[in-house]
Amino acid sequence: MAIERNTRNSKRFPKTLSEGILPGSIHATYARCGKRNCKCARGEPHGPYYHRYYRIGNRIEKEYIPLAHLDDVRAACARHSELQSELRENHRRHEALISSFKLMMKELSL
Ligand SMILES: [Zn+2]
Repeated sequence: MAIERNTRNSKRFPKTLSEGILPGSIHATYARCGKRNCKCARGEPHGPYYHRYYRIGNRIEKEYIPLAHLDDVRAACARHSELQSELRENHRRHEALISSFKLMMKELSL
């Protein structure tokens, strides 16, 4: 994904560099504008508005997703979560390897 610069007309999106991989999850929200004679006051709220929630350290960040980017962001989030499960799986394999190695060392020293 190309780096877009902050100019008058184009706000950089997403805020973080993605390379097609983005952490977090997407949530849709609906809103009421508060005007009494609006359709939202009759149970038809505005939206959906999509945001991506992701963690930076202890903070949860929230980023608005323009509709035009929704599919890309969805795909990027899916890729990130796939990558996370791969990492977890690799970690599990690594741990298993270490314990069998430790066991082997123990047996050799007997
Ligand atoms: Zn409204």
